[in-house]
Amino acid sequence: MHHPSHISPVVTPRPVTPRADGRIDLIGLPRAEIATHFAAAGLEPKQAKLRAKQVFHWVYHRGVTDFHAMTDIAKAQHDWFAQHFIIGRPEVVEAHVSTDGTRKWLLRSDDAQEYEMVFIPDADRGTLCVSSQVGCTLNCRFCYTGTMRLVRNLTPGEIVGQVMLARDALGEWPKGSMAGFGPATDEDDDEGGDYTADGRLLTNIVMMGMGEPLFNFDNVRDALKLVMDGDGLALSKRRITLSTSGVVPMMARAGAEIGVNLAVSLHAVRNEVRDEIVPLNRKYKLEELLQACADYPGANNARRITFEYVMLKDKNDSDDDARELVRLIRKYDLPAKVNLIPFNPWPGTAYECSEPARIRAFSEIVFNGGISAPVRTPRGRDIMAACGQLKSTSEKRTRAELDRLAEEKSASLMLGA
Ligand code: SAH
Ligand code: SF4
Repeated sequence: MHHPSHISPVVTPRPVTPRADGRIDLIGLPRAEIATHFAAAGLEPKQAKLRAKQVFHWVYHRGVTDFHAMTDIAKAQHDWFAQHFIIGRPEVVEAHVSTDGTRKWLLRSDDAQEYEMVFIPDADRGTLCVSSQVGCTLNCRFCYTGTMRLVRNLTPGEIVGQVMLARDALGEWPKGSMAGFGPATDEDDDEGGDYTADGRLLTNIVMMGMGEPLFNFDNVRDALKLVMDGDGLALSKRRITLSTSGVVPMMARAGAEIGVNLAVSLHAVRNEVRDEIVPLNRKYKLEELLQACADYPGANNARRITFEYVMLKDKNDSDDDARELVRLIRKYDLPAKVNLIPFNPWPGTAYECSEPARIRAFSEIVFNGGISAPVRTPRGRDIMAACGQLKSTSEKRTRAELDRLAEEKSASLMLGA
């Protein structure tokens, strides 16, 4: 199988690394693996299986982090579980709330790597923007994440842990058993918020935080399976969107094995321009990418593919570009909508955001072509919560380094290295 790891030399830590005290963190483990660990720690296989089912429900459905709260497990066993296992959460380094209600958390892993998640409340939904990697190997030229030096894949536990933590912070585990359990932060529970029809603030998940999710396929898949598990977090796949910059060979697998909504970071309609701003395009050209979109299982008019398009002044924002976008979507017969994202500038960037009038004109042309093309309102600007602006305090590369890196990346992609 063609695997993209040869252009993404990212080390994945073992999914289960016991803590210094020997205890194993259950977060990120599916039922069967929980059972295996219970058996390895000394339970009879049948007991292990039953307890795994119960613990799974407490952990992922109820949000419990203390074995002593698991009322259907014999009291005498609670200490035994607590001696061998923990139910952890990512460590919160910073938590911010924007004037518009957007929240951002800076998180730290056990090996002191930092990553972020963002919660964006809207009138009819609440979206959690989840990271899949620390940093990103892809170096898109307009993206702040691409400037980070360090890159490593997040584990399934670190990915699903973001969702668990958000539910903690929003106070959203099923009521009746949860009060007082789980880590709490200062801003917990003090605001009612606009509860949505199904009674929750967190209704949607987008894999649009730091990293390229399809370069961390297995961990993202395993984490999202936990998020979708009916006995766990139980979020519908229709409420989850995976965003990719165009890792063509992994797109069919994403559709088959995860089955969530697809968003594609298109950003340009001509190979010359896309080669520059999304260097991965040098490996997987626009035509291949659009064909992979056409082949994506489950895409139809009710479940359209989202094309993300960051508006860069004099780079990709002309009337001609808009018309070409319509032509391409029609040519490949794609059930698609377009999200126009005003570029979020960052220190040292080579680009500027298109003028508002230009963005409106672009949107109108696409819209008149029969394709929905809303302009995404920037959220959480005061707390640097916007896409590609995460981890503002981390180590960054200089502009000169970025230019050199882009050249190297382009050379290696051209060679298929
Ligand atoms: N790596 C994946 C998912 C994370 S990026 C991907 O590229 O699709 C999420 C979205 O934010 C992408 O569409 C990305 O292109 C966009 N983005 C990155 N930097 C941005 C910036 N400075 N301004 C606006 N959008 C940006
Ligand atoms: Fe990585 Fe996505 Fe940023 Fe590109 S836009 S560098 S793929 S996170």
